[in-house]
Amino acid sequence: MPELPEVETVCRGLDQAMTGRKIVSVDQNRPNLRFPFPKSFPERLAGRKIERITRRAKYVLVELDGDLTMLMHLGMSGRFEILGDKKSQKPGPTGPNGFGKHAHVIFHLDDGIKIVYTDPRRFGFMDLMKTEERDKHPNLKVLGIEPLGNELNADYIQQNFSNKQTSLKAILLNQKIIAGIGNIYACEALFRAGLSPIRKAASLALKSAKAKKHAEDLVVEIRSVLTDAIRAGGSSLRDFANVDGDLGYFQHTFQVYDQEGEACKRKSCDGVIERIVQNNRSTFFCPSCQK
Ligand SMILES: [Zn+2]
Repeated sequence: MPELPEVETVCRGLDQAMTGRKIVSVDQNRPNLRFPFPKSFPERLAGRKIERITRRAKYVLVELDGDLTMLMHLGMSGRFEILGDKKSQKPGPTGPNGFGKHAHVIFHLDDGIKIVYTDPRRFGFMDLMKTEERDKHPNLKVLGIEPLGNELNADYIQQNFSNKQTSLKAILLNQKIIAGIGNIYACEALFRAGLSPIRKAASLALKSAKAKKHAEDLVVEIRSVLTDAIRAGGSSLRDFANVDGDLGYFQHTFQVYDQEGEACKRKSCDGVIERIVQNNRSTFFCPSCQK
């Protein structure tokens, strides 16, 4: 499943290929993905200029001229391919449209580039909205702050974690408080901060110097773990100047995620990584150095 760093990488790749271009036409090859496409989806996009591509949590927002924004979510398996005019068809099994049978949407740009959206499991979705009403969209209006924005700081953590009897891990996954931190990066940030995932969220909101320090450490590590992953993803875009490219997934190395039974990677620690289940999600952590 693409996490925030993958979505950020997708945004940057699409931005390079699409911003400033005009959408000539759109092939929509099925009526729905996770949800039905908006009515007249291809017709409403055709002829519009792409002005800006941004990310909000795990949503890609494509801002077009004429007060229209397209929202895209990659679901579990969504990915984009960018095909130059010299390579109009991808090798491999092809469906009726000349692309793979899971190529559900193809955006044709005015420079001959094709942006192909492929999604075998079809948990992704696309929607359209007026740009000026973006903040009222049902998927966006419920979101908390961005983990990479300036709003995330120790004060925000202390204000929003106080009186929360839930665990620290669970609160990091609460999209209404901080939007876009998935299971993997919640585990990794807590490991880096040396904080236990089973500790009560409210313990970071106490009026002590220690609680404040924990909140500050958590902010620093959330940022650094996401920034490191985005940087790794950016290197996967290096070939992007050649236009043809497959966006969305890249290899990561994790310190605790999926490392059950492995030796803790913190130098001063001889602990072993454990897996527990919290809110139906796997949590990986080192019980020796995460307190
Ligand atoms: Zn450890």
